[in-house]
Amino acid sequence: MKDLQEKIERLKKKGVVLTIQRLAVLELLENVCTHPTVDDIYKVLKEKYPTISQATVYSTLELLKDAGVVQQLCIRKDKACFDPNPKMHHHFFCRRCEKVLDIPIKCPVSKQGEVDGHKVEEVQAYLYGVCVDCLKVAESKT
Ligand code: ZN
Ligand code: MN
Repeated sequence: MKDLQEKIERLKKKGVVLTIQRLAVLELLENVCTHPTVDDIYKVLKEKYPTISQATVYSTLELLKDAGVVQQLCIRKDKACFDPNPKMHHHFFCRRCEKVLDIPIKCPVSKQGEVDGHKVEEVQAYLYGVCVDCLKVAESKT
């Protein structure tokens, strides 16, 4: 909850007008750890806000992204998904259940800040495979 309050303050300082719908997108994202897509967010919010459009959800996410309070991941090849944690961290994509999970690895490149004379500003690691839950299901079937 502290995070949400901080984000609201930050957006206000940037002059972003927080409409009910924009706030709803921010709030929903803050309370999930599933890295939802625009579609996922839209489907949930539509229950409570029947007038909300997919375009509103999309433009709100763009706005929140530009303000630096959320980040967009391109780990899924077909669609973008969103993360309420704007800080750099790495992700794992399960090819079976299509879950996007945070993984606690440290990238040596991000620490160094320099590779071959290039200045590194950002590192995003996307790892692909089968998650621990799906592996368990596969095991129990054999
Ligand atoms: Zn899985
Ligand atoms: Mn994440």
